[in-house]
Amino acid sequence: MERIGVELEEAVEIITEHTGFLEAAEEIDLGEALGRVAAESYKSHMDNPPFDRSPLDGYAFRSQDVREAGNSCPIGLTVTQVLYAGGWYDREVGPLEAVRIMTGAPIPPGADCVIRQEEVSFRAGEKDTLWIPRPMKPYENYCFQGEDSQKGTMLLEKGEAIGYVEQGILASAGINRVKVYRKPRIAFFVAGDELCPPGQPLKPGKIYDSNYWLLSGRMKALGYPPAVSGMAGDHPEEIAGELCRIIDQTDLVITTGGVSVGEKDIFHQVLPLLGARRLFWRVKMKPGTPAMFALYKGKPMIHLSGNPFAAAATFELLAVPALKKLTAAPHLTQRRQKAVLTRDFEKAGGRRFVRGYVEDGMVTLPPAASHASGMLFSMKGCNCLADLPPSETPIRAGQEVEVIRFPSL
Ligand code: AMP
Ligand code: MG
Repeated sequence: MERIGVELEEAVEIITEHTGFLEAAEEIDLGEALGRVAAESYKSHMDNPPFDRSPLDGYAFRSQDVREAGNSCPIGLTVTQVLYAGGWYDREVGPLEAVRIMTGAPIPPGADCVIRQEEVSFRAGEKDTLWIPRPMKPYENYCFQGEDSQKGTMLLEKGEAIGYVEQGILASAGINRVKVYRKPRIAFFVAGDELCPPGQPLKPGKIYDSNYWLLSGRMKALGYPPAVSGMAGDHPEEIAGELCRIIDQTDLVITTGGVSVGEKDIFHQVLPLLGARRLFWRVKMKPGTPAMFALYKGKPMIHLSGNPFAAAATFELLAVPALKKLTAAPHLTQRRQKAVLTRDFEKAGGRRFVRGYVEDGMVTLPPAASHASGMLFSMKGCNCLADLPPSETPIRAGQEVEVIRFPSL
């Protein structure tokens, strides 16, 4: 059943109800895994570090040999070998012996402590005898095998998103291939006869297309760059033809522009041309009221207003939940929090969501005049949408509002 004019919460419900999780898994190189969701759990097959090692540049020896050492009665040890990171020892450390050791080099059996090189001294003409000026505790400056993660440690659980830290953790245990859920194939189109790609001279009446860069960048940052994208004029047949051509290889269509009530708001024609089923049009909120949702050959299509801020805000509010449903990516979970306004805000024009910057429970909103849906510049530095209360009365510094932080990987 088609709905005209839905609350945001209903819109999200309709979208997520008609968007399915892409359960198929594939094994990929670790280098491709950023932003992907693990389809399998990974336990370590090894200890990391794989051997006891030195955390600094110095000398390793037996702590029991220097129990009586002091500034006035240093104990002399004989340096028997030099160990660099990446090298291996060829003998144990015996009584009153020491090895010269660099950070990351293995500590040979026998030795149970490492003294920093700045603490020791040598006497003239005795380059192989090292003087230790103090007692050392057993395992002082000693980095144990497996102290980071051990054989059997759960490194990554099925369902977790792979961020840069997870990439590092998997690599540290020697894992270079991971099984992840299939990536959604997103088709992203911006539509408008007025659009001109940046870098080309601007003809009268035209504007540069910012939405492609804004939203494709956002998708990339979340780990899901569009698989197909393009800029189209306001020609329904053209766009319908393109959508028809790509839909079988697509999991989600996102568009901006052409969904309002003007004569060139072409998606009202595109959907019937395709035989797509419109599930809702118009969300009862600002910005981004004209948003539209349809199913075409069972694939979700989210059509957003062309106004850049409206497109950015409704991408967060409507498209991110769809992406989360497709991928089950935990990092796409929308988190609402309360935050206290740092300054007064003259609420105007019935806007529900405004851009803001939240930090330490405080939210700062740019001045009221810079919140129009067509204004992008004041979104610079913002990291959230503030969900303002419905009344038109000004909101005051110190008042609490709800904010939705832009999720990140
Ligand atoms: P529409 O949603 O097509 O009615 O467009 C609403 C407003 O957004 C108009 O002022 C358009 O010129 C502008 N607009 C549409 N698409 C883009 C785009 N890709 N980049 C920048 N502005 C756009
Ligand atoms: Mg338009």
